[in-house]
Amino acid sequence: MERTESLSCSWLLVDASKELTRKSTLPSETIHTLMTYLSDSLHLVAIRLHQPAVRENSTQVTYELLNDNIPRRLNQVITFPADFVKSMRPGGDRDYLIYDSESDVNPVQGEINVGYVSIFLRHVEEGEFLGLLELVFKDENRYPSERDISVLQALKELLFEQVAVFEKKRRGTGDVEDDEVLDYLSGLHRYESFVEKIDRIIPDVVDENHGIVILCTDINHFKLVNENMGYKKGDELLRLSGQMAASIENLIDACRYYSDNFIMAIRVENPDDDRIRARVEGENQRNAASLQKVVGDSQIRFNSGVYIIRNPKMDAASAISYANTARKQAKVFKGVHCVVFTEKMIEELRRSEQLNNELPNAIKNRNLKVFYQPKISCENERLIGAEALIRWQRDDGSFIYPDQFIPEFESNGNIIQLDYFVYDEVFRFIRNRLDRGLLVVPISMNVSRRHLENEDILFYIDHLFNKYDVPAEFIEFELTENIYIDNIEPALHFITRCNHRGIKVSMDDFGSGYSSLNMISEIPIDVLKIDGVFMHRGKTLNHNDKVVLNNVIRLGKDLKMIVLCEGVETREQVDFLKEAGCDIIQGYFFGKPMPESDFTEFMSKDA
Ligand code: C2E
Ligand code: CA
Ligand code: CA
Repeated sequence: MERTESLSCSWLLVDASKELTRKSTLPSETIHTLMTYLSDSLHLVAIRLHQPAVRENSTQVTYELLNDNIPRRLNQVITFPADFVKSMRPGGDRDYLIYDSESDVNPVQGEINVGYVSIFLRHVEEGEFLGLLELVFKDENRYPSERDISVLQALKELLFEQVAVFEKKRRGTGDVEDDEVLDYLSGLHRYESFVEKIDRIIPDVVDENHGIVILCTDINHFKLVNENMGYKKGDELLRLSGQMAASIENLIDACRYYSDNFIMAIRVENPDDDRIRARVEGENQRNAASLQKVVGDSQIRFNSGVYIIRNPKMDAASAISYANTARKQAKVFKGVHCVVFTEKMIEELRRSEQLNNELPNAIKNRNLKVFYQPKISCENERLIGAEALIRWQRDDGSFIYPDQFIPEFESNGNIIQLDYFVYDEVFRFIRNRLDRGLLVVPISMNVSRRHLENEDILFYIDHLFNKYDVPAEFIEFELTENIYIDNIEPALHFITRCNHRGIKVSMDDFGSGYSSLNMISEIPIDVLKIDGVFMHRGKTLNHNDKVVLNNVIRLGKDLKMIVLCEGVETREQVDFLKEAGCDIIQGYFFGKPMPESDFTEFMSKDA
């Protein structure tokens, strides 16, 4: 095959050295930066750093970056053919080798990767073999020239220089600047050493006039940012967030807990909840604004939870878990970016714990009630279906609403039991009406994300179809928009199975979160449920709302979906939606969620 020489990579060296001088942070981070840089610029399939291994004819891969851009520190030992090693040893005949899968056997991958070219660059210092840099690229009929090789050699020198610095640090002083203690990507402490340090410091810092703020922060829908903007941008975001965390005033220490979760410990004088919340909110907004520039038009938002250590006997792990509880609350409340943990939350935690314990009894004693909210056809304003929504009735007759227990049940898995109860009730209700020859409309049921962790739900649904013998046309499931983001594969599996059975599936809460438009075109859903937030609790729709709604409805229609609008509270909204081409309306205007008996009555009026 004809090959064009040259990867044209001479400019790489200049840029890489610039990159190096710009950020002279941790050696491990520099190694990562350089490798990412090479990988991106040369469109590499893989880049690996090999270091000498004890075993004969072997090297140890210590760093690897595949084209998913996730750095891995490995200790994988690779054994090469003896002649390969011999030729690469000092005194061997060459200091680099090119393996072309078309004509050679790659010593690392074997023969499998046809269409790949690997370059091995040897690193030798003072007659000692110190390692190899392996670059794997997809052969697009380009081939490195001698000149390219000399550039790559120079880059390899830079890399191994950093490796030497890093190794020296590690072996030598036992400095805290060690990869064992430091997070590779952000340069911050790892969780364990962070907790250790804070535990040591609490009794010294905390007294009547001084506290420690434990601040847990994450990036809202980081996963989606990662997917939409690419892992490189995602990494950059994390690195910058790490830098921001490290530069907070009066910081004691910061760590990256996992993924996009950062924890900071800050010294404060006379801690005051409101003042601290305001400060965190302000800082989050400023930081988000400056990160915005990195990711372009994707919306960045931080969620923070705060716990203030006021007691010198407090331990760091508990403080972190309280701050984390508060952070989760910040995620739930729309528009709230920081929540300070309060005694009241301990009360709430206790209450939800109590509800958890009571759940089995509540099911047995029928304290859980399924309510039905009508869905109305835009065409003739007649009943066309309903959504099943759970309510918990206290002994005194009052109701506990789902927002008070569903989030907790989702996190501890109780939601599965609860949903199964709802599904059973709905099937029973439909069967009962069928038996009595009464009007039956399709009922939709909510599916928690927890169901997608295994296939139980599919078996349970089969079981209900067998038990009640209800036609599939009366059954519909709702999956919220966010489920698809986090669990696309299992969600697709679930939907496909429903499709086969003739059960409709809807995308719930569309537009409330970070809908990815390319996502909705790829998922075979039947119904697009536009979130109630667009209706602003019955307020008059302004021009912008109308533009957005018109377009979202058109999008759904173009994708051949049934479009439903939720949260509709006024006649004016109904008329607008009809005009815009919406198919179905659900909302207080036509009916609130109501007990089974009331819904039965509602249906009899419609029949
Ligand atoms: P959702 O699935 O988005 O349900 C719609 C929510 O909007 C319901 O709140 C409903 O009462 C409320 N709503 C309906 N029409 C209007 C309106 O015109 N104006 C306003 N302001 N609100 C309206 P609800 O019943 O409190 O449920 C809240 C959430 O809890 C549900 O949101 C759903 O995500 C979850 N949920 C409820 N029941 C279940 C269940 O059985 N299983 C699961 N997994 N989740 C459930
Ligand atoms: Ca729903
Ligand atoms: Ca909804």
